[in-house]
Amino acid sequence: MAHQQSPPAAFAPFQIPTIAPDATFREVRLILGDQLNHQHSWFRSQDPSVVYVLIEARSETDYVRHHIQKVIAFMKAMRTFGRHLSGAGQAVQYYTLDDPANQTNLVDTLSQLIDQVGATHWAYQLPDEYRVDQELKGLADGLRSKGIECVVADTEHFLTTRTELSEMFGSKSYLMERFYRKMRSRYNVLMELNGKDPLSGQWNYDADNRKKFDHKVMVPTWPAAYENKTQSIAETQSIEAMLAAQGVETVGRMPSGQHLDHPTTRVAAVRWLSFFVDKCLPHFGTYEDAMDGQHLTLFHSRLSFALNVKLLHPLEVVRAVETAYHRSQETAAPITLAQAEGFVRQVIGWREYMRGVYWAKMPDFGMLNFFGHKADLPQWYWTGKTQMNCMSHAINASLDHAYAHHIQRLMLTGSFALLLGVHPDQVDAWYLGVYIDALEWVMITNTRGMSQYADGGIVGTKPYVSAAAYIDKMSNYCSGCYYDKKKRHGDRACPFNSLYWDFYHRHEALLAKNPRIGMAYMAMRKFEPEELQKVLTQASIYKVSVNEL
Ligand code: FAD
Ligand code: SF4
Repeated sequence: MAHQQSPPAAFAPFQIPTIAPDATFREVRLILGDQLNHQHSWFRSQDPSVVYVLIEARSETDYVRHHIQKVIAFMKAMRTFGRHLSGAGQAVQYYTLDDPANQTNLVDTLSQLIDQVGATHWAYQLPDEYRVDQELKGLADGLRSKGIECVVADTEHFLTTRTELSEMFGSKSYLMERFYRKMRSRYNVLMELNGKDPLSGQWNYDADNRKKFDHKVMVPTWPAAYENKTQSIAETQSIEAMLAAQGVETVGRMPSGQHLDHPTTRVAAVRWLSFFVDKCLPHFGTYEDAMDGQHLTLFHSRLSFALNVKLLHPLEVVRAVETAYHRSQETAAPITLAQAEGFVRQVIGWREYMRGVYWAKMPDFGMLNFFGHKADLPQWYWTGKTQMNCMSHAINASLDHAYAHHIQRLMLTGSFALLLGVHPDQVDAWYLGVYIDALEWVMITNTRGMSQYADGGIVGTKPYVSAAAYIDKMSNYCSGCYYDKKKRHGDRACPFNSLYWDFYHRHEALLAKNPRIGMAYMAMRKFEPEELQKVLTQASIYKVSVNEL
């Protein structure tokens, strides 16, 4: 039966696409908030017997306390996507969070719609998160018993299948570098014409990409979100008001009357990518590991949200970088291979690799706690109120922008939590809540895996921890700090220093045999016993008074 859909193509800024209450459809297709893939084959044709559904689900806003900007970004991106589909002639039922017909749970709202429109079929794209995957499988089983057929589609986003990594390594150790080289060859990215060798003969320029920011290069100012300013801010404010009225609890800050710092539409994301390639790529690799008190983002792309909600395809991003690299070779300012390779490795290497680890190891991965850590996360992770300059900058930036770049996440907030021995559940909850790009598949593998070594070495080969020397080498934080970067104990001794040695000391039985850590134990053995005791005592004092640091 033909459906009646209202309204048709043109939408007022805040209009929410809905179907007529008595409309009927043969098939309901679910689009999750992180499945906003404009190029998906579902949308290549119009089938009047199909209705698409997007749901702002209370179960999703509440399963962890999210950053206010994260919730707004998801809802803005979903609403724009719903309008886009509807404008392109597809039937769309969009449920806002405050829609009285929207149930608490995503699955309940979906079942209700299937019933309402009399559908005999429903379809969903493979979810990226284990939790949602289980929910939708459960729904499919339940509906099948009532004669309603379910079709599962691929998201057409990732460059590997869910099971590829486990098939590649079997029961052997997972090696990111081997996987990455395979991806480069398969997708012919930065390769010689023979398709076998990497451009210039070298696969990895990691060693060249570790420079401190020297303030000699200008850091580009990002344009305001590339969106219709008035409309964008108004929609942000209306979603914010709705969240408050619905009592959704969030963390972080939302500066009033401002844009989000991340693109939430396809058009903005594509422009954002161009800006990154033109202005940031030439220095991306060089300063990839640098941290700076004046510049939060430096030359990083801030594309993670757009990628994770699928507004951008990973290959589209990688090809843009590759093309810019090749074109620049004919100009007076060629981009070096180290810049392009450094970026490509993150997207077709680390990002796909983490997804492979996730699907190979879940659900057990979510419970791993190799060190048996039990401590609480310091309270100031939620407020940014600490005298540690590096931590204050990374945490306040995260609370203000729902963003920090990789090294701030790994070597500041992550490393400090690991040194303290915080329970990985608390670390996961913080990262999952605070960052705009946080979805479990890519958060937990980075947090519990790479950062906390709670997986005992599946993702990384050693724990990423450091004392003040590394932070000072890679940033300008220490010069303005209340604490003394050179002191291991005593008045104003940098907490990273004593906690670093305390970490190695207490986990000697688990770590001493790791060949990548041997140097640390050799250095520790050179300490005079009295000095080591003072360092360990200092660490105990800091652990007891951690909320006052
Ligand atoms: P860029 O530095 O410009 O890198 C480009 C892209 O590469 C990123 O957008 C991202 O898609 C990809 N990428 C880079 N590093 C990684 C990585 N280690 N794993 C997966 N993809 C990567 N990334 C998330 O997308 N979501 C998370 O929830 C998340 N949580 C993290 C938690 C911890 C403790 C750590 C150490 C890292 C986490 N990362 C996460 C990875 C990485 O820090 C972010 O992807 C990156 O900082 C996003 O900023 P950007 O877009 O400017 O990245
Ligand atoms: Fe961070 Fe220590 Fe340096 Fe202060 S002295 S900025 S706490 S590393």
